[in-house]
Amino acid sequence: MFDVGVNLTSQEFIRDYDKVIQRAREAGVIGMIIIGTTILNSRQAIVLAEKDTKYFWSTIGIHPHYASQWSKKIYSEIRKLAVHPRIVAIGECGLDFYRNFSTKKEQMYAFQAQVELATELDMPVFLHCRDAHKDFMSILTPWIPNLKAALVHCFTGTQSELEIYLEYDIYIGITGWICDKKRGKELCKLIPLIPSNRLVIETDSPWLIPKDIFPLPSSRRNEPSFLPHIVQKIAMLRGDNILNLSNTTTFNARKLFNLSSNIRNTII
Ligand SMILES: [Zn+2]
Repeated sequence: MFDVGVNLTSQEFIRDYDKVIQRAREAGVIGMIIIGTTILNSRQAIVLAEKDTKYFWSTIGIHPHYASQWSKKIYSEIRKLAVHPRIVAIGECGLDFYRNFSTKKEQMYAFQAQVELATELDMPVFLHCRDAHKDFMSILTPWIPNLKAALVHCFTGTQSELEIYLEYDIYIGITGWICDKKRGKELCKLIPLIPSNRLVIETDSPWLIPKDIFPLPSSRRNEPSFLPHIVQKIAMLRGDNILNLSNTTTFNARKLFNLSSNIRNTII
């Protein structure tokens, strides 16, 4: 199975990075995408990704929380670094009107610029949308015909939002959010509605630990080795088997990020 979203540059992993990766491999995670959310950690993501070029890939972009940092200089840095062979997508970019760490105007500007850049560079986009679906789609839609591919990572929206994404062939990233009895309840009902060629899986670690893991680590830190736990839950909700779901979502990740030429052949 393949984890399409890991915040591996987080401080949370500095202490025992090697062990975290070792556990992920042992758990059957055959590769992962390291998420870049600022220029600094996108650079760090490239450094980590170079440690094993058959296991790691990364994104480069400015997360909506940091959209206030957007500048011409940042734009040209992203543009320059995006051609690096480890970089497979522009993002994480999008809108987050739940937290509003940057103003709406700043977020919309940085998002639009990154989507435009992705079309120009013919690269997929790694997207984040929270409480902003209408504005998110109004920025994204005009670019869709020219976009290589798009992933709405950590999807937690409504059924009508899901249907709109699917109408535009956008990939849907599902996290351990579905393992949260309260917050994940609505999302669980939508899991069977996602066509199998649009579904990818992610931990978004160190955030969003699947809350029903037992025993729950006292640190509450999520890590990629918990991906099988999420797969198990998704398989149950879809009436699918774990092996089939692992293979399908790995295939989708390969296709979405165009990894077919260099990912390990082992499936699962
Ligand atoms: Zn996100």
